[in-house]
Amino acid sequence: MNLSDKIRTIPDFPKEGIAFKDITTLLKDPNAYEEAIDQIAKRYKDKDIDLVLGVEARGFLIGAPLALKLNKGFVPVRKEGKLPGEILKTEYDLEYGSNILEIHKDAIEKGDKVLIVDDLLATGGTVKATADLVEELGGEIVEIAFLMELGFLDGREKLTDYEVFSLIID
Ligand code: IMP
Repeated sequence: MNLSDKIRTIPDFPKEGIAFKDITTLLKDPNAYEEAIDQIAKRYKDKDIDLVLGVEARGFLIGAPLALKLNKGFVPVRKEGKLPGEILKTEYDLEYGSNILEIHKDAIEKGDKVLIVDDLLATGGTVKATADLVEELGGEIVEIAFLMELGFLDGREKLTDYEVFSLIID
């Protein structure tokens, strides 16, 4: 199955000039969704990982089923004000303005081996901020995994300290 064909491109979303990769069409096809998770899981099944961490919101859609498949715990990184416990937060720049991500302070213990997961790598800012949170809590980042990468945006340049894997590269 060509998983790339299951992701559609919506022009001018969320604003003019942006070709948005919409993964809802892949998620709606149970065979495609399962194959995507299986293929990512195959890469990590023998790796030393304690936790799978997903970034709100679409990162949950990849990270949570992957965690179950790998029989590892799942840790959510959320947008501001959603987590009820004691949190660590980071603010990072977007093209226009900035964004805040938060994690529970007790979600990661020093030395935990963490696989970070998101749906899509664009400029890399989101996942770089996430990696900073993990490291501030003493976690070790095993790798960062994406369902899809927009190669032309060179997001990997922000992530040169880490191993990066993308199932689909556009
Ligand atoms: P980055 O921080 O520029 O790498 O943007 C990545 C974040 O924005 C991820 O959390 C994605 O969910 C989201 N994102 C950016 N562009 C797209 C897209 O074309 N499709 C789906 N998500 C996107």
